[in-house]
Amino acid sequence: MAERVLVVGGGVSGLLAARRHARRGAVVTVLEAGDGWGGRVSPVEVDGLTLDAGAESFATRTPAVEGLARSLGLGADIVAPTRAPAWVVAPDRAYPLPSTGWLGIPTRPLLHDVRRVIGWGAAADAALERSRALGEVPDDATVGSLVRARLGDPVADLLVAPVLQGVYSRPLDELPLAAIDPSLPQQLRDAGSLLELARRRRRLAPAGSAVMGIRGGMWRLTAALADSAREAGVRLVVGTAADEVERVDGSWRVRAGGGTLVVDTLVLAVPQAVAHRLVRELPTPPSERRVALATLVLDAPELDAAPRGTGVLAIGGVTRAKALTHATAKWPWLRDAAGGRHVVRLSYALGEPGEDLLAHALPDAIRLLGVDLPDSRVRASRLVEWPDASPARVRDTRPLPALELVGVAAGLSGLAAIVGAETPGT
Ligand SMILES: Cc1cc2nc3c(=O)[nH]c(=O)nc-3n(C[C@H](O)[C@H](O)[C@H](O)COP(=O)(O)OP(=O)(O)OC[C@H]3O[C@@H](n4cnc5c(N)ncnc54)[C@H](O)[C@@H]3O)c2cc1C
Repeated sequence: MAERVLVVGGGVSGLLAARRHARRGAVVTVLEAGDGWGGRVSPVEVDGLTLDAGAESFATRTPAVEGLARSLGLGADIVAPTRAPAWVVAPDRAYPLPSTGWLGIPTRPLLHDVRRVIGWGAAADAALERSRALGEVPDDATVGSLVRARLGDPVADLLVAPVLQGVYSRPLDELPLAAIDPSLPQQLRDAGSLLELARRRRRLAPAGSAVMGIRGGMWRLTAALADSAREAGVRLVVGTAADEVERVDGSWRVRAGGGTLVVDTLVLAVPQAVAHRLVRELPTPPSERRVALATLVLDAPELDAAPRGTGVLAIGGVTRAKALTHATAKWPWLRDAAGGRHVVRLSYALGEPGEDLLAHALPDAIRLLGVDLPDSRVRASRLVEWPDASPARVRDTRPLPALELVGVAAGLSGLAAIVGAETPGT
């Protein structure tokens, strides 16, 4: 009898794993608790536009996602975002981030766009960093301690902190360099200076845009992947959560939707908190943060000129939002589809239960975009919430017999990492 595989979670990682097992001859079912496919890569309708509810782009540091998109017939629809600097809005000023940096560290501190932000004196100090002996770099050195000591507070606070706070939830002074990449402390010792490390890392980045998208939205990737999984014979069941899992006599018994499924192999493609609830032997995950994305569709001709480029990072508590993406300025296909309307996305870390985040969205957009917009300019708004634990990478993705962890359950974050793990060698 063919092996029976159950995949719990129908996001990109669950769909990829399901297709892989089906292609090698297993009988595969995917259970998805939500009412559609894709998890954090799925669509949302706002003012008649089909937009990305979560992920809107993929990193090009590996060819994995592009390869997947091509294999799904989406190659011609891979698109680059508009090239424009990200802006920072601080309590006392707004400025574009220099374009030549790595993690916000300027590779050439004396360039005009760096001097304009940190001033001549700080730029000149930073430029001398290469000539100062590096000294000891402990494995647990924080980004804040290194950047402050070597490049100065203005570089740390005005250039590096805005870039990193959007990605990592910890302040610079509590963020170990090794948390970004475990090999970075050693790379720094080898480079001998932060500026040299930044220069080397930038040189390693592939030419062209660091991220790409898909015309029509990233959600098209998971929609096409679901079709491809179906073609491979996968049975896809939506609106059905796995409630309980038990290992009995070498099989998995999974209670879901009022019934019980008995399978040989279980694949968990759900957030780590859910994976731990289902299989208690799995390690307790770090506490789960939740994030929310507020999308506004606006009638706002004053945004036609994209006053803050494609996006803004907020620092110093200027707004409740952490960041804003001006999606119609970032993606030419969306500007065309929106027919003169503007789409902005604001990201929030969830706070008190019951807080009305949508009430913040327009005032935050006004502050971050630097334009005045009365309520009447909002055509539609939508808030989507997501679990977003800073996932803890698990060492063993097959921790028990006939159990496999993929995607978020394996502690992977981002499409490049998740798709890359399915297609080793990319
Ligand atoms: C707002 C936001 C923006 C992002 N932007 C980007 C981006 O631009 N680029 C990028 O590369 N990455 C981005 N990411 C990260 C990326 O989207 C995720 O890393 C990736 O989509 C995770 O895929 P996954 O399949 O592992 O998990 P998920 O997409 O989370 O899928 C898990 C699925 O499991 C389902 N589920 C949960 N519990 C159960 C249960 N008990 N039974 C059955 N099903 C269950 C959920 O409904 C969900 O569909 C973003 C994430 C967020 C939250």
